[in-house]
Amino acid sequence: MLVPFGARVVRGIVLSLSNSTAVQDTRDIIEPISPPVIISPERIDLALWIADYYLSPVFDAIALMLPPGSGTGKPQKAKYIKYVALNTAAGQADGRGKTGTAGGAKQAEVLKLLEATGGRLPVGQVLSRVKCGGSVIKALLLKKLIILEDEEVFRDPLARRDFALEFPLQFTAGQKDAWQPVETAIKGGPDYRGPGAFLINGVTGSGKTEIYLAALAETIRQGKRGICLVPEIALTQQITDRFFARFPGRVAVIHSKLSAGEQYDEWRRISRGEFDIVIGPRSAIFAPQPELGLIIVDEEHEWAYKQSDKMPRYHARDVAIRLAALTGAVLVLGTATPDVVTYYRALQGQYRLIELNERVSAQGNLPLPEVSVVNMGDEFKAGNRSIFSRLLKKQVVLSLGRDEQVMLYINRRGLATFIECGNCGWVFSCRKCSGTLTYHAASKRLVCHHCRRTYAAAAKCPACASVDIKYLGIGTQTVEAECRRLFAKAGILRFDSDAAATAKAYSKLIDMFRKREADIMIGTQMLAKGLDFPGVSLVGVINADTGLNLPDFRSAERTFQLLCQVAGRAGRAHVPGRAVIQTFNPGYYAIKYAARHDYPGFYKQEIKYRAAFGYPPYNSIVRLTVSNRSQESCNRQARSMANTLKQQIAIQGLPGLRLIGPAPAHLSRLRGKYQMQIIVVGQQLQGLLKGINYPAGWIVDVDPVGML
Ligand code: ADP
Ligand code: ZN
Ligand code: ZN
Repeated sequence: MLVPFGARVVRGIVLSLSNSTAVQDTRDIIEPISPPVIISPERIDLALWIADYYLSPVFDAIALMLPPGSGTGKPQKAKYIKYVALNTAAGQADGRGKTGTAGGAKQAEVLKLLEATGGRLPVGQVLSRVKCGGSVIKALLLKKLIILEDEEVFRDPLARRDFALEFPLQFTAGQKDAWQPVETAIKGGPDYRGPGAFLINGVTGSGKTEIYLAALAETIRQGKRGICLVPEIALTQQITDRFFARFPGRVAVIHSKLSAGEQYDEWRRISRGEFDIVIGPRSAIFAPQPELGLIIVDEEHEWAYKQSDKMPRYHARDVAIRLAALTGAVLVLGTATPDVVTYYRALQGQYRLIELNERVSAQGNLPLPEVSVVNMGDEFKAGNRSIFSRLLKKQVVLSLGRDEQVMLYINRRGLATFIECGNCGWVFSCRKCSGTLTYHAASKRLVCHHCRRTYAAAAKCPACASVDIKYLGIGTQTVEAECRRLFAKAGILRFDSDAAATAKAYSKLIDMFRKREADIMIGTQMLAKGLDFPGVSLVGVINADTGLNLPDFRSAERTFQLLCQVAGRAGRAHVPGRAVIQTFNPGYYAIKYAARHDYPGFYKQEIKYRAAFGYPPYNSIVRLTVSNRSQESCNRQARSMANTLKQQIAIQGLPGLRLIGPAPAHLSRLRGKYQMQIIVVGQQLQGLLKGINYPAGWIVDVDPVGML
């Protein structure tokens, strides 16, 4: 509602009612916001938890629960159209319009039309069907023979497509075992004892989605509703299509690609209970789904669930866990490569662990792809300087020869990712950021991947004027050029944000590859995200080492997840799959276990390292970052914050806490601003951090997904 606040008018939210006031003089509410927005008590609790846990203002947390567009700025007003209706209170309308004039005849016609059509029509239709003007309606209104009504109209983002209805599949033995405890939890009953929370750790293609669908169907049978979170809507059209086909007309999709109006309308319809299932990326967890009985988080390990760029910096999976606890909804987390923290919690009994170790298909069980690890150091010694090892090249030729498709993964975009002077060693870097520049073939320019600033490709070294400029490092365009040279007849498609700037463009590339309009798809991290192309028999990882040396305690976990997920794209239908991982570190544990599809093996080693250093799950982490155009102020602010924290730790007697830094962030300068960070490690850090005053320029990130 709108309330006076000092000399201003601001929007307020009623969280609770009280019989007494804390202030002497109260002022009146100016007006309620229309149409009214009602937030359930559980969601108010959820917002208060978010504000407390993620150290954000309560209003920002509550705003997550409001219809899209109402958090900041002007609220999205609902769209109405006007209806005319017979005024039944006026009794028999028949004949009263007859006044003998020409206008009277039209008035009678309007009344007749309304009677014939159920008493109610949009004004526009009445005017066009009777061929009269607004004065006729006005006259009838004056006589109180009709009334005007507003009806809210909804912009329907799904009106565009039809889906063929599909039926549930017969579960395999493995799926049956996995399904049984989930079914029991959803059916509930007086004797049921939790936890009603599950972690399904199922290899890629093991039929997890099929279990989600069954869980939703059972939830609906129990008269309840569900929310399903997916990491990124653009890349998960395949999963949403399956939901539409199974539950036609009962699925709402919400995501930021919808127009503000569409989002608003979806929100209103969901709150009225019009959909059994809401599906969407992280913000879908805040959908006002009534009678919530099930929350699914697909690919629970994905970073995309964390809102890192603005407050509140929440993690949708962790919010989902909280919401399930508050509402009593059953929780299903699914992934082939669990977050180490999630797996740890499952082993501790917080979630029930369900494993699916076999791939399924309509043709029965499928083997997982056979993964080979190639030591690129050996290739080098053998005189092979190409970015393709002999094995990968041979396998590409074999796959293409059998008319199968190939996916190649490389972590960077561009043609050369490092440009250096061969004479003096000068490295071309961004003037506004501390990162190096990448050469892009199409624009023939040097691009900063951090701020998107571009520079002309220099012919001479700015430091020593030498013309010996070296273009080093491999990007998607390098791989593309090499493929065109080595596999001249193959159709090649590049799948990165240069080739596809929008979600729509991504969908188009996915469609093209699915229709086999190309043989080889070259892409970045996007390739790792749940794509399902039956024609792909081979996946190649050009360089598995790129993430290994980053100063982030999760770098092994990320590498493992990425390799498993990318390799998992191969051999998903009748053709057996193969993956070739190229690396200079073939003995590294994340690579070794990924090649064997051995999550528990990886976990066992990783958890030892986490324990030794006190990293999550053994402690929480909060990252404090400050940025400033002046390096000196930046340093000063960081030092002063560190001192404050140290003092508070001493005063409050918090021995288990550790500070790392202050130190320059991995990217020490971004868009012209220097960045320093302090990492706080320990338990229940909120107690300490809540009491601190954060001057402008500070960002506080609880449970950050990246340390860079
Ligand atoms: P995941 O979500 O674990 O990647 P999916 O549920 O997408 O696995 O299943 C992989 C493939 O196997 C899909 O094409 C799906 O239609 C098929 N599939 C899943 N379960 C069965 C089943 N019980 N019988 C036949 N095919 C199945
Ligand atoms: Zn030089
Ligand atoms: Zn830059």
